[in-house]
Amino acid sequence: MNEKGYIFNIQKFSINDGPGIRSTVFFCGCPLSCRWCSNPESQNRFRKHALASGDPKLAGRAWTVEEVMKEIEKDRCFYEESGGGITLSGGEVLQQHAFAEELLTSARESGIHCAAETTGYAAHEIFASFIRHIDLLLFDMKHWNRGIHYEKTGVYNDTILENMGFAVKEGIPTIARIPVIPGFNNTIQDAEQFSKLLLQLGIREVHLLPFHQFGEKKYTQLGVPYEMAGYKQLHPEDLEDYKEIFLKHGLKCSFR
Ligand code: SF4
Repeated sequence: MNEKGYIFNIQKFSINDGPGIRSTVFFCGCPLSCRWCSNPESQNRFRKHALASGDPKLAGRAWTVEEVMKEIEKDRCFYEESGGGITLSGGEVLQQHAFAEELLTSARESGIHCAAETTGYAAHEIFASFIRHIDLLLFDMKHWNRGIHYEKTGVYNDTILENMGFAVKEGIPTIARIPVIPGFNNTIQDAEQFSKLLLQLGIREVHLLPFHQFGEKKYTQLGVPYEMAGYKQLHPEDLEDYKEIFLKHGLKCSFR
């Protein structure tokens, strides 16, 4: 094992990143630039700010696979009791796919359930190789419309949708995750369009993630502008009609 991975957090006792109790491993690096991002330190465009901050919680550090395994093994009893495991998140884990695959291989050999939360924004060969090691994909979907997706995340959604459809065809359990953002994708029409697209891609379950302001402080720490300042947070009770659209289309739908 030669690869080292840059990780900015290993969060224990996660209960919203897959089944059971999990350890979520947050990878540095993300090619997207979502305006509402709660982990801006992971974005490539802010990487130099994160490094300059001198704060290891923002900058992350290089880990070996053995170091990560040692850390996640500490909670094995919780995974076994609860049907949990580990979830690779970020940032975008596919940015460090070689390290991630080594880590997943090691975790699976140790009998640990492996999930990943990803945007799926990577070349097809990279994505196809990565998902061979995955028990569950939590697949982010930001917007159904190609142009609007580009406007607010800096990338088009073509690759993302192709990889999502591919994962489903390959039989990888895949749940779509939609961050519901005011002024971006929170209308009933958006819910209709998302539902149709997800069904076309073979997705049967969706998680809705109401917009929150938990990441705001990090923008100040990094010294970069935060475009969502002052936007009202959303709560499940604000989105019942929105959720109803997914249910109407026969999708399983819940809040996270
Ligand atoms: S994909 Fe996730 S980590 Fe990357 S910029 Fe968007 S919200 Fe942030």
